[in-house]
Amino acid sequence: GSSVETLEFQAETRQLLRLVIHSIYSNKDIFLRELISNASDALDKLRLESLTDSSLVDIDTTGLHIALEVDKDARTLTVRDNGIGMTRDDLVELIGTIAKSGTAGLLEKIKESKDAATAESLIGQFGVGFYSAFMVADKVTLRTRRAGTDSGTEWESDGEGSYTVQTVDNLPVGTSVTLHLKPADSEDGLADYLSESKIRQIVKQYSDFIRWPVRMATERTDAEGETTHEVDTLNSMKALWARPRAEVTEDEYNEFYQQISHDWLAPAETIHMRAEGTFEYEALLFIPSQAPFDLFSRETRRGVQLYVKRVFIMDDCEALMPDYLRFVKGVVDAHDLSLNVSREILQHDRQIRGVRRRLVKKVLGALKTMQAKDAERYAKVWAQFGRALKEGLVEDTDNTEALLELVSAASTHDPEKTTTLREYVERMKDGQEAIYYLTGETRAMVENSPHMEAFAAKGYEVLILTDPVDEVWVDRVPAFDGHRLQSVAKGQVDLDASADGDQDTDAEKAQREQDFAALLPWLTTTLSEQVKQVRLSSRLTTSAACIVGDAHDVTPTLEKMYRAMGQ
Ligand code: ADP
Ligand code: MG
Repeated sequence: GSSVETLEFQAETRQLLRLVIHSIYSNKDIFLRELISNASDALDKLRLESLTDSSLVDIDTTGLHIALEVDKDARTLTVRDNGIGMTRDDLVELIGTIAKSGTAGLLEKIKESKDAATAESLIGQFGVGFYSAFMVADKVTLRTRRAGTDSGTEWESDGEGSYTVQTVDNLPVGTSVTLHLKPADSEDGLADYLSESKIRQIVKQYSDFIRWPVRMATERTDAEGETTHEVDTLNSMKALWARPRAEVTEDEYNEFYQQISHDWLAPAETIHMRAEGTFEYEALLFIPSQAPFDLFSRETRRGVQLYVKRVFIMDDCEALMPDYLRFVKGVVDAHDLSLNVSREILQHDRQIRGVRRRLVKKVLGALKTMQAKDAERYAKVWAQFGRALKEGLVEDTDNTEALLELVSAASTHDPEKTTTLREYVERMKDGQEAIYYLTGETRAMVENSPHMEAFAAKGYEVLILTDPVDEVWVDRVPAFDGHRLQSVAKGQVDLDASADGDQDTDAEKAQREQDFAALLPWLTTTLSEQVKQVRLSSRLTTSAACIVGDAHDVTPTLEKMYRAMGQ
């Protein structure tokens, strides 16, 4: 029959609707993302069922698409799909109730939450989906016919307490959702959702990589006043990350990178991976060839975007990439998250933490491979991002080993070339235990430091570290490959203990100590304001004296940095 039946929303649904309508979401634009995502799911389901359900094999699935229709006079926006559709029972069950467990408790918490941000993050735990339509519409009409059934159903509601359903004939298979739009109101975040450019912008932002075409009829008036009508596809549908690696060309990767990064250069490295199992995701990451100008400013953002099944969720996803890898750009598409997942939930999600751990390992692994296979390209990448990577030596103790392998440093070994710690260790002299380094502002200052003299004279290689962050990590890192890092300017450096053939004999040492027995205490007393102790040293060859820090003292450069920061 075609009689209209009025049904009450389940109590919890009513509460949720009230929250949605009274704008817990500051970003109203997402309603379109939700409806397009539902339409896309419905198309997926129809295609799948047409392959597996013998009663649906006759259905033609070549024209599956999503259509957006604007009626300016009626002030309606319709999202239409020719997907699986719903039966009347489906509708009442899926749209009229919230079957998810824990809904009541969650709603309670949302009501008690003190501010909008908390409410938004709580509601993100299960998402509002279809109901988000009521953020922008004061009435919603949904018409649907399930594939394989003869008649359709019309559902209508103002989102208050009840909805109507009635059977209607002659509906095509699929679903249309018609929004009777509220007036645009910039204060309420309600844009003009009848505007073609606004619709294009939202689709591009959130639904560009949906696998089905999102089409819209457009009107163009040319210079002669001639109006033409065309149907445009608004989304690119090119979710490269979802395609097998073997089927994507380098040009496609580069183009995609440039699209998401707004960079005009090709990336230095592309990492494309897929994880299967309990938590499925795809990741397509890029290491740029050039650092952004603001890599070290506080405002700089991380470059990884989060998608859920091709729907854009957020930029700058800090839960997926640590700070020190903020220069990595790309996309992670996780299949099992809610579209409304919040940053806060992501931060605490065990599986997301697992994804992040894996991605970090992948990025560091890719850099390691580049270092081994293409040293020239690696040197360029290190020059751009080495400073950020060295922050990782302080931040990310889980990967100290891998990060130390990546470090390139200037060294006394070769004025033209940097060295890795591994290469340094391979050149170490017999009996040398520590990796020697000296920090300073410039290479020249380090090279001319009196601290270097004995090391140079004895032929020990010293790393020349001139980056302010070097001061920090060398202190935090215990050792590389079993060799501790030792500043040539700090503590006792007992060069004589090394078996290099020309050490002083014990007798010579004793003699010297006797010769200076009176001078040292006198110097220590005289200079007591300036130094802690004056002692004989084997580290100098031509200079008469030098100042040495305690093993745990702050170095002069760090001291300067701290002072500059007002500490
Ligand atoms: P979710 O998409 O997270 O399940 P929604 O509130 O967005 O939550 O949608 C609820 C359910 O309604 C969907 O799971 C789906 O079964 C059904 N539905 C919504 N829109 C459509 C549509 N266009 N075609 C078919 N079914 C739909
Ligand atoms: Mg949905």
